Amino acid sequence: MKDLSVTSFLTCLLGASVLCLGANASLAQGTPPADHPAVTVKGKTYTPRSILARNMGTEADRVTAFPPHRIIGDIYYVGTNTLSSFLIATPQGHILIDSTYERSVPAIEQSVGKLGFKFSDIKILLGNHAHGDHQEGDALVKQMTGAQVMAMAEDVPLLQAMKPGGKEHPIDRVLHDGDAVTLGGATLIAHLTPGHTPGCTTWTATAQDGGKTYNVMFGCSLRPPAVLTPALVEQFNRAFKTVRALPCDVQLGDHGAQYNMQEKYAKMKEGGPNPFIDPATCTLEADVEEAMFNAILAEQQQAGRP
Ligand SMILES: [Zn+2]
Repeated sequence: MKDLSVTSFLTCLLGASVLCLGANASLAQGTPPADHPAVTVKGKTYTPRSILARNMGTEADRVTAFPPHRIIGDIYYVGTNTLSSFLIATPQGHILIDSTYERSVPAIEQSVGKLGFKFSDIKILLGNHAHGDHQEGDALVKQMTGAQVMAMAEDVPLLQAMKPGGKEHPIDRVLHDGDAVTLGGATLIAHLTPGHTPGCTTWTATAQDGGKTYNVMFGCSLRPPAVLTPALVEQFNRAFKTVRALPCDVQLGDHGAQYNMQEKYAKMKEGGPNPFIDPATCTLEADVEEAMFNAILAEQQQAGRP
């Protein structure tokens, strides 16, 4: 009995260290991890690498402004071809969600101007999650606008470690799950949807269109890493549950590809009903990422079996 449990304990340890060694070795050599598993959701097949490619595009996509446009109400898209940045315009100044890479900030500034707003009128800067492609430009935007930078408590350590060109990451207000951010009649609620980062934040707001009120959800990334620890499993399970329970008519995301931004924008230009109002696709990104999460977990469990 004792021997058996020692053996299985050793097998577990060995299994875990082999997994860890494998991951570390491939990272150290700069080679990407093997591109599996593959999942199919609504007839479309995704792999970890295809999701990353879809999200990031080319370097040019990351720094080139996508045509800025009104999404709904006072909510505008001011990001690049692949990195989202949203402007919520109010009579008392504006809220910006995501500064993206520091090198992409000029594209955002240009887009805000093209819509007829002043970049210097940005009073509050919020973030989606503490990765460079979404929040590296925070210090620069703060420098340019004097905006108050607000961040979810659980992401603060990662943000503080983000110092482009040696600049300290500004944080003026620390937020907690359920906190409200208000400015000029606009209210945004912060929802903790952890996993991708510990403080990954899904924002919700309401917006008017044609005399009706709609629920807008600015989704945080739900993309799982190659290796899932028990703590991460718990976090992602919380995030999937939270996201699925949020009221939603308009789903947005930290990368345009998460909500088919380019297709919806093309449709909007044709006229007709607002294509961004699309409750049926509100959980599509969660469906894709949860399928991937479950497939990674299943692979891991299989690998761990003696
Ligand atoms: Zn990320």
